[in-house]
Amino acid sequence: MDNRVRSTKVAVVGAGLVGSLEACFLARRGYEVHLFEYRDDIRLLEHVPGRSINLAMSIRGRAGLKTMGLEDKIIKNHGIPMVARMIHNKDNTIKSIQYNKDGKCIYSVGRRYLNEELLTKAEEFPNVHVHFCHKLLTADLTKGTMIFLNTKTKEELHVEADLLIGCDGAYSSMRKEMMKRPHFNYSQQYIPHGYMELCIPATPDNEFAMPPNYLHIWPRGKYMMIALPNQDKSWTVTLFMPFEIFDELTTPEILLDFFKENYPDAVDLIGRDKLVRDFFANKALPMISVKCSPYHIGSTSLIMGDAAHAMVPFYGQGMNCGMEDCVVFDELLELYNDDLSQVLPAYTKQRNPDAEAIVDLAMYNYIVMRDLVNSKLFLLRKKWDDLLSSLFPRTWTPLYTMVTFTRVRYHLCIANKEWQDRVVNKIVKIGGILGIGLGILLTQTQAVHQLSCTIYHHISGLASKTLALATQ
Ligand SMILES: Cc1cc2nc3c(=O)[nH]c(=O)nc-3n(C[C@H](O)[C@H](O)[C@H](O)COP(=O)(O)OP(=O)(O)OC[C@H]3O[C@@H](n4cnc5c(N)ncnc54)[C@H](O)[C@@H]3O)c2cc1C
Repeated sequence: MDNRVRSTKVAVVGAGLVGSLEACFLARRGYEVHLFEYRDDIRLLEHVPGRSINLAMSIRGRAGLKTMGLEDKIIKNHGIPMVARMIHNKDNTIKSIQYNKDGKCIYSVGRRYLNEELLTKAEEFPNVHVHFCHKLLTADLTKGTMIFLNTKTKEELHVEADLLIGCDGAYSSMRKEMMKRPHFNYSQQYIPHGYMELCIPATPDNEFAMPPNYLHIWPRGKYMMIALPNQDKSWTVTLFMPFEIFDELTTPEILLDFFKENYPDAVDLIGRDKLVRDFFANKALPMISVKCSPYHIGSTSLIMGDAAHAMVPFYGQGMNCGMEDCVVFDELLELYNDDLSQVLPAYTKQRNPDAEAIVDLAMYNYIVMRDLVNSKLFLLRKKWDDLLSSLFPRTWTPLYTMVTFTRVRYHLCIANKEWQDRVVNKIVKIGGILGIGLGILLTQTQAVHQLSCTIYHHISGLASKTLALATQ
């Protein structure tokens, strides 16, 4: 660690999942880190207000935890593996669809637990100073000055730092400061759906009420519901629907009729009274998607995590991507020998196409999860992917696998999927014709007759089904 790094003061705004991890990364390199958080210390609170009780964690988030030596503790001891999607149909039947043919899985992790572990880890570094109850009011992004409001004493605190990093979430104050500057591009989109969290409690004998190692999905086209397991054997259920449908569910009778019609098995799992009580005590929350560029100003300011790229939650990648931001930034600090004037522009250049790609993919999965996951075309494409990835394991990696179980750059995941789509389309066209030709040729000899039938059946069957569905 050189003196230049040790004498560099960094102010990180927001001690959520990304800010507290980033503080650890910077402290590990030797920077003097001041972490400012609007809320009180969540480790001291009985109830933490805010979103999603649990999160799906995959390889990109794990990469950040691994560097900090937290992966085993958080994933192995606390995460609940989810090996497949479990689809709940309207007729109360269920079926599972594996995430990955090699049995790779994602993990359900408690948001509060994760944030607490990261805060505790950050505080273990002597060069990290955490300031709770400090709300960023304004910042001069080139001078490196900030004004915070101490929400307990109501006093203002003026802070100077060499580098300001905004990890202050989807409604970031740091990003708002960047928006005042020329050449800063910004777009946001609210989707018509809102979300509400409900809960399936543990059974009376303290067991999971559904098979635990799955991400349960009730896809219903216009709306959907998902459930992730918790350590205490309960399930956090998230109901996604257009706001106008939430608004129509005005009485317990209407709500129960709606659930009986759309999510019949969930009524008993949640419990009628609990469903009514929780639904009317809660309110549907909005979901925003944000794209912006650049992520930095000169060598003094940077935004990361949701502040830079909030996304709809349907790929389970918001936190994973934010944690990967910390890994990428650390790699660039290493590459450029901690020269911030080089690192910050390099970070924007490298990270922006990837962040925008996952923001787009999350929006795409918004449709896949509520609709396509149950469609024949989706299942057929999955069969093609499974077949081709078995035949060409090194070159054919399905999109979901690449996003969730590898650290291939997000924009390359999209490029790869486009290439695969072209190949599948060609196989469908050519394969159908070749399959017929091959079938006729091979039936000449009795010995190969059976083999020919199997191959012919497989290829032409898959091809014709795909063609038929694609042209529907
Ligand atoms: C319903 C839902 C489900 C989700 N599920 C998943 C999932 O399964 N997997 C996944 O990877 N992602 C998921 N996400 C996304 C994930 O929650 C976010 O991407 C992640 O929390 C981003 O972390 P962050 O630290 O950037 O922001 P945040 O977690 O929002 O943290 C920002 C912090 O900054 C603080 N702050 C804000 N303003 C100020 C200020 N002015 N001054 C000081 N501090 C401030 C806040 O108090 C907060 O502590 C989900 C999101 C939602 C809404």
